Amino acid sequence: MDDQDEVVDPTVTCDRCNAACCRDVPDGTALVSAEDLVRWRRDGRKDILDSLVPGHFSQQGFATHANGTCVHLGITGNAHACSIYETRGEACRALVPGSRQCLTYRRAKLDLAAG
Ligand code: SF4
Ligand code: SF4
Repeated sequence: MDDQDEVVDPTVTCDRCNAACCRDVPDGTALVSAEDLVRWRRDGRKDILDSLVPGHFSQQGFATHANGTCVHLGITGNAHACSIYETRGEACRALVPGSRQCLTYRRAKLDLAAG
């Protein structure tokens, strides 16, 4: 089965998750694309550009705190929300709620696989 055949669990939604995919991730794992970099430069998002570290495949990714939480996780009143959601990076946007990868994060990080 390739990714195009992947079954997605439609009952899984981010608003019932504690942002499992944004926690306990090594520095640079959440990769950003060349298009992301162009957009952030264009939009003057030095704050985001300054938060990047070297990642896999010669790309860059988001830095994490010492506990593995992405530096962009958390807004006032909601510790599980992404503070740059509207302009988050490519890997973040590509992760489909309910997908196999999402469920793996949920099982491994927060034992939320049931829903
Ligand atoms: S994509 Fe999956 S792991 Fe990430 S916040 Fe949404 S439900 Fe949670
Ligand atoms: S940028 Fe946002 S969506 Fe991406 S890992 Fe960080 S907190 Fe999560």
